[in-house]
Amino acid sequence: YPKRFGWVGLGAMGFPMATQLLQNSSANLWIFDVDQRVLNRFASDAPDGRVRIATNAKQVADESECILTIVPAGKHVKEVYLSPEVGLLAGNTSGKVFIDCSTIDIETSKTVGDAVKMSDPQNSVAFFDCPVSGGTAGAEKGIITFMCGIAAEDEKFPLIHAILKTMGKSILPMGGRGLGLAAKLSNNYLSGIIALATSEAMNLGMKLGIDPKILSDCLDKGSAANWVNSTVNPVPGVCPDAVTSKGYEGGFKVQLMEKDMKLAAEAAHNAGAKLVLGETAIGAYVSAASDPRYRDKDSRVVYKWLVDPRD
Ligand code: NAD
Repeated sequence: YPKRFGWVGLGAMGFPMATQLLQNSSANLWIFDVDQRVLNRFASDAPDGRVRIATNAKQVADESECILTIVPAGKHVKEVYLSPEVGLLAGNTSGKVFIDCSTIDIETSKTVGDAVKMSDPQNSVAFFDCPVSGGTAGAEKGIITFMCGIAAEDEKFPLIHAILKTMGKSILPMGGRGLGLAAKLSNNYLSGIIALATSEAMNLGMKLGIDPKILSDCLDKGSAANWVNSTVNPVPGVCPDAVTSKGYEGGFKVQLMEKDMKLAAEAAHNAGAKLVLGETAIGAYVSAASDPRYRDKDSRVVYKWLVDPRD
């Protein structure tokens, strides 16, 4: 089991996940992010000199045995791994394990995975797609789900399980390379539509005169029960501790939901899977993400997009 860990990407998810890794293991951690402020904040919050700030991703690879990455999109993942001289693969990768938790397209992940393999002449390096679900609050509590691009019977799975278990509750082997992302895109396609549909249903019931908390409780006990309704209800005030009751600050940015809905639609197109709701939902997230009132807010702000008067 590795002692020296590396981490690239300390954003809304990466920061609390790396915090959990530190708390629930005796790991030392080399960190890198393009945002220097976030590096300083993480290092000053961290206990007893176990965290070191790297000057680039290459140094993270050189200094660590297991490297986790979680950045916004495919182009950032390529940058982190493949940048000449400063990327992870410019470092020493021999015998190391790379785990990418970003939600990106399957093709990019496979391209990066191939490059990881090629970077080690001894062929002892490993790369896995292990995207996550459960939101920033789940990451803070260490109860997220990892959807892992590995088979349950793979000899490396016990190691992956042990590492990810320090940060999550469910570590699910999805069957092989790229299938962690296949699961994640299926999940977020549904989650994005559920958030929009929950917003519509809440608005409908409220317009008909029902108090939003009473309505949400009712949905939770009926056939429409769902995680968005009960955990991060889009209507402010229904879930007092959720980002939706705190000005939609933090959480899962609306433009990331736009990205994931589009990735899911593209994957469906490539696989010949029919989608009928996707286009409408993508339209809603594209419109919300392009509006300065909602951009950078949690994706459940799609409720505000629905009910606010248009300019
Ligand atoms: P974020 O924008 O909050 O954080 C991304 C971090 O990556 C930032 O700190 C940024 O500075 C850093 N970064 C960007 N490019 C970089 C580079 N080239 N080198 C080093 N660092 C770089 O995003 P997030 O919400 O943490 O999401 C990260 C990924 O996790 C996305 O793919 C997202 O879809 C996925 N995800 C997010 C959530 C959520 O609730 N926020 C949940 C599940 C999955």
